[in-house]
Amino acid sequence: MAISCRPVFARFIAIALVAATASLPRLVTAQGALKAHQQLARDIYKELVEINTTTDADPGGTTQAAEAMAARLRAAGFSGNDVQVLSAGPRDGNLVARLRGSGAAGRKPVLLLAHLDVVAARRDDWSIDPFTFTEKDGYYYGRGTGDDKAMAAIWIANLIRMKQEGYVPDRDLIVALTSDEEGGDHNGVEWLLANKRDLIDAAYALNEGGGGFLKNGKPFVHNVQAAEKVYYDFTFEVRNKGGHSSRPVRDNAIYHLSDALARLERFDFPVMLNPVTKAYFERLAQAETGQTAADMRAVAKNPRDSAAVRRLSMQPVYNSMLRTTCVATQLTGGHAPNALPQLARANVNCRVLPDHDIKDVQASLVRIAGDTAVHVSAAPEPRGGPPSPLSDEVLRPIEKLTSEMWPGVPVVPIMGTGATDGRQLRQGGIPTYGVSGLFGDMDDSRAHGRDERALIKSFYDGQEFLWFVVNGLAGVRAR
Ligand SMILES: [Zn+2]
Repeated sequence: MAISCRPVFARFIAIALVAATASLPRLVTAQGALKAHQQLARDIYKELVEINTTTDADPGGTTQAAEAMAARLRAAGFSGNDVQVLSAGPRDGNLVARLRGSGAAGRKPVLLLAHLDVVAARRDDWSIDPFTFTEKDGYYYGRGTGDDKAMAAIWIANLIRMKQEGYVPDRDLIVALTSDEEGGDHNGVEWLLANKRDLIDAAYALNEGGGGFLKNGKPFVHNVQAAEKVYYDFTFEVRNKGGHSSRPVRDNAIYHLSDALARLERFDFPVMLNPVTKAYFERLAQAETGQTAADMRAVAKNPRDSAAVRRLSMQPVYNSMLRTTCVATQLTGGHAPNALPQLARANVNCRVLPDHDIKDVQASLVRIAGDTAVHVSAAPEPRGGPPSPLSDEVLRPIEKLTSEMWPGVPVVPIMGTGATDGRQLRQGGIPTYGVSGLFGDMDDSRAHGRDERALIKSFYDGQEFLWFVVNGLAGVRAR
């Protein structure tokens, strides 16, 4: 972090400490106890959840939500090109807003990203209406309360608060709320990078993909997503002239394929740590105990410690952090019960480490298949970008604030094994950090599922956390 903003940041930390210890516990009570900026965040959150932004449903799409947020920003004093709704298609609105900084520090902007679209939710599957924002038992319920409308609402509420209370960052802050992260043909981030790069160009971005875990209701770790694995599908395919099954031969497409898949089952890609996963194991060791903690420390120090690797690999989540994985996910083959198969095909889904060359992965699959009868599909075009640097500028304020708000909870850099829009940004050269201060139960994630919800206290803690983190990153001072 730049020297110039240190004293300012120290003040924010002090305020955060007071906020965390004095006022936040009251938030779980009646709505009447909310402060003005919290009420604003709640109103925006409710509005967003109640606009159905399901990608493929009718009604649906993100344009209405993007327009609603633009209207709020204009009412708060943002104007002209500083608030725009841009679309690749009529249903795929993206909001881009800019709070102009003083430019004093000569630094590129910080991009604050969230996606507006949500996964489909059917009333019949839920115990309540997924598109009615519902407060119950200490939670806010509704589709998108977790993924990703809490962050979207917080970015907008905090930007409005900054404008209205006269805070001036030393660099521009950009908020982008985008379409088709969950699916659909018009991924907003991809479209903005290709068509409106100047509007979202930034030194780095904050995004979903991080956040905290609660274990037995208590904060356990606070994750910062700084890398993502990349999704690729390969096919293993065997073709054969076939024949009558009453006169079988050993040269059988299904047998060739199943032998190849059996070899894949027994294969492990080599352990390859990057700076993010190395830090992941080092930091998580602080929260874990016993053999697991010892193994994490051992692997971080020496990725060739085969005993530690073997034990950690037995847990799917740690295995996925250690290496690229490829697994058979779908099968097709044969054309009749009484005929030798002319075709056998498997889909092999790979989650590839961001610094693992996809050509090398493909070559490994050919070697594992180990049979010229098995045709392994060619390596696809490389996607994804490098892990984002764990720079002091970004990590230090997150760590400091985490230790103030959740004492003893380690900040753990993680590599995502699913997918977020961080992939596109990193590929486009914008380092991206999944960070939110939003905590949820680690054993009860309901994103994409039924009765999605967010802890009410966590929502306001997250708002507070992101307020101070962004203030710290952008050298914000009161006018
Ligand atoms: Zn999401």
